[in-house]
Amino acid sequence: MSTYEHLHVDRDARGVWTISFDLAGRAVNVFNESIFRELTAALDQIDRDSGAKLLVLRSAKEAGFFVGADVNRIQDLTTPEEAELAIKSGQDLFQRIEDLKIPSVAAIHGNCLGGGLEMALACTYRIVRDDGSTKLGLPETQLGVIPGWGGTQRLPRQIGLQKAAPMILTGSSKNAVKAKQAGLADAVASTENFDSDVAAFVNQLLAGKKPDKHSPKLRDRFLDGTVLGRTIVMRMARKQIAKQSQHYPALPAALNAIETGLKQGLKPGLAKERAEFCRVLFTPTCRNLLGLFFQREMARSAETWVGTTDIDAPQIKTIAVLGAGTMGAGIAQLAATSGFQVILKDIDELTVQQGIKQITSLTEKGVRKGGLSRQAADKALAAITPTAEMQPVTQADLVIEAIVERMDIKQKVFSELDQQLPPQVLLASNTSSLSISDMAAVTKRADKVAGLHFFNPVHKLPLVEVVRAKETSANTIAALVNVAKALGKTPLVVAEGPGFLVNRILFPYFDEAVRLVVEGHPIQEIDREAKRFGMPMGPLELLDTVGIDVGADVASHLPMASVDESPTPKQLAEMVVQGRRGLKSGKGFYDYKNGKRDQPMPSPVSTSSAQLPLAVDLNGETISGIQQRLILALINAAGQCLHDRIVEEPWMVDLGMVLGTGFAPFRGGPLRLAETWGRDRLREQLNNLADLFGPRFEPSPFFTESRTATPASHNSV
Ligand code: NAD
Repeated sequence: MSTYEHLHVDRDARGVWTISFDLAGRAVNVFNESIFRELTAALDQIDRDSGAKLLVLRSAKEAGFFVGADVNRIQDLTTPEEAELAIKSGQDLFQRIEDLKIPSVAAIHGNCLGGGLEMALACTYRIVRDDGSTKLGLPETQLGVIPGWGGTQRLPRQIGLQKAAPMILTGSSKNAVKAKQAGLADAVASTENFDSDVAAFVNQLLAGKKPDKHSPKLRDRFLDGTVLGRTIVMRMARKQIAKQSQHYPALPAALNAIETGLKQGLKPGLAKERAEFCRVLFTPTCRNLLGLFFQREMARSAETWVGTTDIDAPQIKTIAVLGAGTMGAGIAQLAATSGFQVILKDIDELTVQQGIKQITSLTEKGVRKGGLSRQAADKALAAITPTAEMQPVTQADLVIEAIVERMDIKQKVFSELDQQLPPQVLLASNTSSLSISDMAAVTKRADKVAGLHFFNPVHKLPLVEVVRAKETSANTIAALVNVAKALGKTPLVVAEGPGFLVNRILFPYFDEAVRLVVEGHPIQEIDREAKRFGMPMGPLELLDTVGIDVGADVASHLPMASVDESPTPKQLAEMVVQGRRGLKSGKGFYDYKNGKRDQPMPSPVSTSSAQLPLAVDLNGETISGIQQRLILALINAAGQCLHDRIVEEPWMVDLGMVLGTGFAPFRGGPLRLAETWGRDRLREQLNNLADLFGPRFEPSPFFTESRTATPASHNSV
């Protein structure tokens, strides 16, 4: 039998072949040339075996099946010809699996994404392990490309257009149970008995017993199974993506490939898939999304932030969370579901139990929505020790403080923690605005004190700012970066400074939006212009979601955010007094009915003339007056953060803003956009706005100092 470096290939006496993928030197399986070469050789071997009965494809990695193609390889494709070749070789290889004379089974656990799912779809059957880690999906559109190895063809054939189109367009994944319900999986195996369940499934197939066929409902049979039905679904899908298509060309490209396949058959469909893949790969959107992917990978490595691999970061197993309010409960829930032991403390039993109630409800929602298995949810809830005492907190390796936002109270708590906890325990604060160094100053372990700034709601937002205070050590930073990563977040290490990075850059954008309201511009138009630019929601909707009271609080803490006197703190404070605290109170800049946005509030009486700059052309794109005021205020603040060295490199600002605020990902982040527009042009436009509206628009020195046009690191990741 041939020897392989990345596969374990086995044949039993019955003629059952098993190929177990185990990419050497990597924790996860990705497709690259070596795996392709060896899989081709293994298939050759099976083809030559006249006694072959069945093939099982599986992974030897505990981490999962396949996370997809090697994204570095995608990034390295420099010409359409090279891309066409790479896509064709994958399509042909998976076609070989589909064309095998014997049935094939993909036995799936953990991530089965991108090329992994495309290979599994080429198999005759799929059996999936039922635990929280199993995910089947085609996330390619999130990187600005489309599934290129048959995904746009085989997924609609397998589960129907109605379910396949949204999966491909949003890049969403399905867990084991949902995959079975959708007809994507033929059988579900238990976590404990995965191997024996797979063996039993194989035995059944050998005995000639096929799994029950997925039987769609009558309505689905019409919509997925008839030409008219599919035309209706396709038309609806095109309508849904219409607004995003201009910025995300992969979306219509994916639909084009799906449509060709369904109308003309697999071969023309695969050819269209190749052509569309190669077309979108070289668009600026794809380049920016790939850039963000690599930036996220960089941010998740402690080495990026401490500058060395020589790190002795303490291992964190038990986390104590102080404060069982909105943030504390959210952090405790996330930590418990991520495998940490958690101690949750508040001032009395009643308050801590309220926190536990919030955690239980969030966890049950996770089970209902399919993100968590019942078993994982029960384990997480059992991992939390609620307490109103300090004694259990002494068991922690890390304390995350999420109590009221008052320095005197935080200092008292930090001093008490320092006295009662062993000296190696790390202390982190979730403060949004207070000085970590001032908290560290009341302890004798300033090197072990840092900020860990989560965003609300904790389980949803992907970013955590790790705040380096004056004396925070590299090992502490590395440990917190690792914790953030283990919690499934992307860490961004930032220096101290009001608002850290994200809020500091976001506030001038909010400020400009509120100024526009005060000047009498229609609320809906302000939000609409931001969304037209590519923001996921408008600034005023976002302020309503964050909470007008929270915004008012930030406004009062960020005096540096505005050089010119701003009407924003007063406007927000007045809204709080009027009970307009945002979505949670049913009214803010908008009124809400059953949680849904309704009419905007009446515009305040205008105190100044409602002028706007003229629309301008920036790199071939018309930027309206409202967009200029909102976005240039944000970009200028982003430049200032870099100038003040809140972070060291432009990509860090970009990643922070995309993950922390949803800043139009296809633009690659605010500083990437500044480079796209060109510094000279940006400066000119900022000066123009400064003349019209005041010194707050004067270009940050970051845009005026002579620098290399594009910092190398910005392009290289
Ligand atoms: P919250 O009012 O919902 O909860 C605070 C909790 O801390 C309360 O349950 C209170 O009883 C408890 N507490 C007070 N003193 C305590 C003590 N000595 N020991 C233990 N518990 C104590 O507040 P929150 O919104 O969860 O904010 C907590 C922290 O997180 C603040 O520093 C805030 O600035 C920060 N933060 C909040 C948000 C947000 O959107 N809410 C976002 C990021 C950061």
